[in-house]
Amino acid sequence: MTGRVTGTGEVFRAAVREWLSAAVAGLGDDALHDVTVRRTWDGRLYDAGLAGLTWPEEFGGRGLSVLEEYIFHEEVARAGAPEGYGRIGRLLTGPLLIKHGSPEQRQRYLRPTLTGDEVWCQGFSESGAGSDLANVGTRAERAGEQYRIAGQKIWTSFADHADRCLLLARTSARAARHRNLGMFLLDMHQPGIDVRPITRITGDTTFSEVRFDGAMVHERDRVGGETDGWRMAMAVLSDERGPIEAITRYTGMSRAAAVLRRCCASGGSDPELDEVCARVETVRWHSLRSLENALAGVADRAADSVSKLMWSHTWQALAAYGLGLGCPAHERMWQRQYLESRAASIFSGSTQIQRNIVAERVLGLPR
Ligand SMILES: Cc1cc2nc3c(=O)[nH]c(=O)nc-3n(C[C@H](O)[C@H](O)[C@H](O)COP(=O)(O)OP(=O)(O)OC[C@H]3O[C@@H](n4cnc5c(N)ncnc54)[C@H](O)[C@@H]3O)c2cc1C
Repeated sequence: MTGRVTGTGEVFRAAVREWLSAAVAGLGDDALHDVTVRRTWDGRLYDAGLAGLTWPEEFGGRGLSVLEEYIFHEEVARAGAPEGYGRIGRLLTGPLLIKHGSPEQRQRYLRPTLTGDEVWCQGFSESGAGSDLANVGTRAERAGEQYRIAGQKIWTSFADHADRCLLLARTSARAARHRNLGMFLLDMHQPGIDVRPITRITGDTTFSEVRFDGAMVHERDRVGGETDGWRMAMAVLSDERGPIEAITRYTGMSRAAAVLRRCCASGGSDPELDEVCARVETVRWHSLRSLENALAGVADRAADSVSKLMWSHTWQALAAYGLGLGCPAHERMWQRQYLESRAASIFSGSTQIQRNIVAERVLGLPR
């Protein structure tokens, strides 16, 4: 197929499937981990009209609905397509700037974010500020029209590839908690930034420790007011969950479940396998509920938390079952799935934090 992918609903699905199947067929065996493939993948999606599907057209997006975004991610996972490095920019920085950025910030940052020319990382977590994010200690001290940044972030995904960092930092030593933070769009290519990749248990280095000592950011690159950082962070985090994440996880798991079924084909029925596969299907139903909410414009954080709990624990159960089979043909795949799935109950809000949300908002339990 040539030109840009068009259409809505099932027409759109067919066009995306056709484009992906041709694009993925042209890649090598190691495409999922190949840095050059990943670095150029977002630009290829942009050229095909498959980036920023729900972003307004004036910012380089397609102005489509979350339904098309859902279908796109379903097809990406189905095709086993690579993931570029644009995830943070596409899912977090872009939507934040569309809602809360200045006209200059939108003009400057949105299009290069979609084309993959500018890769973002998310500098929120610190060793003493993960679930308790308001405890961020990295400082942004006023120096005329600029801020001088000092402190340390950790678990910063994509930091070793990033051109920009969406940085949450403390702008006041005296103001009350939640009123003492600012949100910044920081240039990663400057002195005073030390990125140290961390090797994960899988052997990958997908995240880093980032130390700031005198890096500068101009006030025009602050999103919102000097003490609006907490509000901005909450806007970012509410975009982190929802139907897109859930359907992507579902599709990956259903592919793995199909492998499980094949591995077990000669072993007769097993109630544990049936249960794991049924749990995988419930993830899809939860993702559809989140999609319905999103299409109706309803923000239901509790439903998103239930969905996150469902897919993260289902993935862990599926991977543990697969590993336990000891199937020689798929041993490496299950080892990787098992190790990767351990992180799922930590990132994007840990299991305990999701359960707290459900306890308070659904069950009405006291804090
Ligand atoms: C793969 C991966 C990628 C990541 N990428 C990024 C990134 O790009 N940018 C970024 O900023 N961060 C990133 N993170 C960090 C992630 O956001 C944090 O790990 C997460 O918020 C948990 O914080 P923590 O690790 O400090 O654990 P803590 O908050 O210290 O929690 C430790 C344990 O205590 C529990 N706990 C904490 N508070 C409560 C409570 N109130 N009630 C009950 N239990 C509680 C937690 O559930 C957890 O089990 C990433 C993490 C992972 C695993």
